[in-house]
Amino acid sequence: MDRLELKALAKVNLGLDVLGRRSNGYHDVRMVMQTVYLYDQVIMEKKKEPGIEVETNLYFLPVNENNLAYKAAKLLMDEFHIKEGIKITLKKHIPVAAGMAGGSSNAAAVLYGMNRMFALKLPEKALMERGVTLGADVPYCIMRGTVLAEGIGEVLTPLSPMPKCHILLAKPPISVSTKFVYDELDSREITKHPDIDGIIEGLDGQDLARTARCLGNVLEEVTVREYPVLEQIKNVMKEQGAMNAIMSGSGPTVFGIFEEKSRAREAGRKIKETGLTKQVYVTNVHNARRK
Ligand code: ATP
Repeated sequence: MDRLELKALAKVNLGLDVLGRRSNGYHDVRMVMQTVYLYDQVIMEKKKEPGIEVETNLYFLPVNENNLAYKAAKLLMDEFHIKEGIKITLKKHIPVAAGMAGGSSNAAAVLYGMNRMFALKLPEKALMERGVTLGADVPYCIMRGTVLAEGIGEVLTPLSPMPKCHILLAKPPISVSTKFVYDELDSREITKHPDIDGIIEGLDGQDLARTARCLGNVLEEVTVREYPVLEQIKNVMKEQGAMNAIMSGSGPTVFGIFEEKSRAREAGRKIKETGLTKQVYVTNVHNARRK
C-alpha cells in the first residue's frame, strides 16, 4: 500500500475530573471521552527517498519534529528501521489548541496508518503503548468512541455508546494554555467534582437526558472565571434548547447537546449573531470503531 487517506476525528469530554497531581507534573484524571464527527484529513504517501515530510494548510503549525504527526511517524520509522520515506499531508479542520485533541488525533491516525502501510502487524494495544509517549490523549484517539479514560488518560475502558444526538461546538477566539489551567487548578481547592458515575449510568441506561444532566468539567472552575465568554456561550446554547452545555478539555471549545438538529443550527446562528464567536460547527457523535 503506497497511499492511505484517513479521517482523524475530534473528541469532546462529556466529563472531566482531576483526582490529583503526580510528582512528574502529570495529573490523574477520570474522563468520559466521546468522538465527534469533525475531522482532519490525514493523507500518507510512501516516498522512495528516506525521511518524513509534513505539509499542512495551516501556516502557523510546525511541519518539523514539533508536529505530532511527524513525531508519530518518526517513532515507528526509528523502531522498525523503515528505509523508505513518507509524506504526510494534514488538511486541518479541527480547531487547534481547542480542547478537542486535534494534534493527538493526527498522531493516532499516523500510527494506525503506518502500521497498515508498512505491514508492521502491531496490535491496537501496542500502538496505544507507543501513542502515550506522544501524548496522554493519543491512546484514546486510537481507540475512539465512548470511553472512560483514567490514569493520565491512557487507562481506557469502553462504555455504552452515547445515544444519537446533535452536538454544537463553539470555539471562541481566545487561546487557553493547558498548562496555565492545570497550574491554576493545583493552586486551588476543588469545590465541586463532576458526576462521572452519573454519566456512566446515564450511558448504560441509554438515557440521553440523564447523561446530559451529569455533564461536567472540573477545569471550568479556572477557565470560566478567567474567560466570561465561555459562560455566555453556554447560556446561549441552553436558552436555545441545549439539554446541557459545557467546555471540552482545557478549552476553550464549548459544546452543547441537542435532540434536534434544527435547534443546534439555530443556537449556532445566535452565537454568531451575538458576536461571541464565528467558529461554530453542528455535528454528531461518532461511535463506529476503526476497521
Ligand atoms: P487536547 O484536547 O489534547 O488538549 P488541543 O485541542 O488542546 O488538544 P491541539 O490542537 O492538539 O490541542 O494542539 C496543541 C498544540 O500542539 C498546538 O499548540 C500546536 O502547535 C501543536 N501541534 C503539533 N502538531 C499538531 C497537529 N498535527 N495538529 C494540531 N496541533 C499540533
